[in-house]
Parts: sequence; C-alpha cells; structure tokens
Amino acid sequence: MTAASITGLAHRGDARICRGCWDQMHVPIPIRGPLALPFRAFGITRSKMNPNICTICERSFRYVKKQSHVAASATILFADIRGFTHLSERIERVRLSQIVSLFQDRCAEGIWAHDGIVNKTMGDGLMAIFNFPIVRKDHAEAAIRAALDIQRLCADALGSLDLDWLGGQPLGVGVGIHSGDVEIGEFSSFRSDFTAIGGTVNLASRLESQAEAGEILLSPETAMQAGALAADATTRLLTLKGIEQPVEARVLDHFIVSSKQ
Ligand SMILES: [Zn+2]
Repeated sequence: MTAASITGLAHRGDARICRGCWDQMHVPIPIRGPLALPFRAFGITRSKMNPNICTICERSFRYVKKQSHVAASATILFADIRGFTHLSERIERVRLSQIVSLFQDRCAEGIWAHDGIVNKTMGDGLMAIFNFPIVRKDHAEAAIRAALDIQRLCADALGSLDLDWLGGQPLGVGVGIHSGDVEIGEFSSFRSDFTAIGGTVNLASRLESQAEAGEILLSPETAMQAGALAADATTRLLTLKGIEQPVEARVLDHFIVSSKQ
C-alpha cells in the first residue's frame, strides 16, 4: 500500500488507520476492519477522544517518541452550558443528566467532524484540541466550524426539551477559542492520558467564561487565522482574570451567523 493510498483511506469519516499515528509518525495503525483485530488483542483500540485516533495517541506517543511532552501549535476550544448552576438547582437529577448527555454528545459530534479531539469533559463543560494529534494546517478555522456546529446542534437539542417553566432563563452554550503554542503530554502520575497546558489554554478558558449563551468568543490570534469565517464578528474589549492586557475578543453570534448562511 502506498503512502498516498493510506492517507486517502485515512482522510475524514471513518478512517481505517489511526489518523493521529499517521500524521505524527507516518505509521499505519489499523483501527477499523479485519486488520484492526490483532491490534485490539494488544489493547490498541479507537480512542474515546476521537474515533479516528487510537489509544496509542492517548499516551501522546510517550513511549514511541521517548519524550514526556511535546510542543505544538494548536487551537484550544472550551464550551459549557451557560446558566447550568441556576438550572441544576431547579430541576431533577434525571433531567439534568439528560441535558448534560445531549450537550456532550452534540459537542463531540461537532468537534470530531472537524478533526478535533475531546480532550477533557467536566460535566457541563469540555475542552477540545485541534491540530494534535490529527494535523490540520487550518486548525483555527476547523475549531470555529466545530463551534458553529456545536451551537447549531445544541440549540436544536436543547430547544426540543420542554424547559419553558425555567422562567425565561435561556439555556444555551458559550464557546471560547484561542490559538497558540501549547505543551502536550501526560502531566499526572495517576492518569494515563494526555492534555495540553500553557497560556494558550488559560486564555481559551477565560474567553469561554465570558461568552453568553449562543456566543463564540475568538481571540485576536484565532480570528486572524480564520480569515473570512471571522469577518462578520463584532469586537468586544475584555479584561480577563489572570491576563495582564485587555483582550480584543471577536464575537460570533451563532444565530446571526446561521441566518447568513
Ligand atoms: Zn494513534
């Protein structure tokens, strides 16, 4: 099999080989089809972070590359359900877990469609990484497209729930995105999967905390790399906790964006 046919198979959709291992090491690790069976016997299966990468990727190539962490240029996305605390005090637990499941599933769908990985989930929130281990030169754009999908899918799912009795409190999702350099690796002695750390991650998280329901907040760096996708964004000057200079965030409103498409 030639390299071209391998990447051809691995491009998008249900990849037959792990796209992370291919992009990072040019090693074809089968994750679907009969060739994947012997690998499964050795515990190498599809990752829960993204079904097109494998569990070797989850160890961030620590044993293969003999490095405990790597530096990468990436786009980090945070999303959470706005007003979740208010909600959790007012509805029954079964309903609450139903809402969290809808949110997590729809977010993963949007993130996977654009080659990101769901790196961490935190109940009513999550963190995604773009450009590692699946390489996307247009990672800022991929993350914004994922965020637009998240807003659309979550609005449809949450809108279908009968939550009128919440007293007009809107139930929606806020997203924050920032692009820059990160350190990727396993930083915990008791957890065996990787994450990203550094100022880029902190800024993405702070932006998300300022996003209203239905909003996507982009850092100037992400907006600059995204070109036309961020052209209609409005500007909002934000003072963010732990960040010295005010940040000129660009705001995409899902409802405005979708009506223009
Ligand atoms: Zn892999």
